[in-house]
Amino acid sequence: MAGIDLVDLVYKFRKEEKEQHQRTEGVYWVTDLIRCPLKREYELKYPELVAKDVFSPVFIMGDLAHRGIESLIKEFFLDAASVEVEGSREVVLPNGQKVIIKGRADAIIDLGEGVKVGVEVKTARADVGIPQPHHIDQVRIYNWLFNLKYSILFYVTPDRITQYEVSDRVSEEEIIERITSTTHPRYSWECSYCPFSVLCPHKKTGNERYR
Ligand code: SF4
Repeated sequence: MAGIDLVDLVYKFRKEEKEQHQRTEGVYWVTDLIRCPLKREYELKYPELVAKDVFSPVFIMGDLAHRGIESLIKEFFLDAASVEVEGSREVVLPNGQKVIIKGRADAIIDLGEGVKVGVEVKTARADVGIPQPHHIDQVRIYNWLFNLKYSILFYVTPDRITQYEVSDRVSEEEIIERITSTTHPRYSWECSYCPFSVLCPHKKTGNERYR
């Protein structure tokens, strides 16, 4: 009997997930709208630089935590809960170009009478600075995309497991502003964790990052 290779199983799962979510022109993912806008362009041009993320233990741990929490939500809320829910909306840019905004909510719970609540799971190495501004923006976009009453940002960290409710939502104007933004990076800390920093002429270094 062949040996059991759980490592290979996890990598295959990550690889298949990645293959199912390939980038296409004219499609913006919600995550594109909350980070440095150059990253989307670089991902289209240099996909090899992010391909190795499939093997990142930190991302794999995040995936496993998501799976566990989503299973718990399904177990508890049964048919009222849907997990890994994909949604899309079209917006028209000022130049007339139509683009699609695509997002995937970790879970959506239907409370009845048209009231739906989103759940977004976040894992982190520490609880410093939570809830983080880009996470709040992400669920503000989900509230708009899925017409949610509010979203729960659920944090799992070694220091604290907690949640925040976010009922604010973006407007279509804000979505367009985020798509057309030329501010790079969006946050000063982004370049330190960016796979494209090895070639990006706009990388912020040293003290420049903190201006
Ligand atoms: S290095 Fe900085 S500015 Fe360049 S793509 Fe990455 S986050 Fe954006």
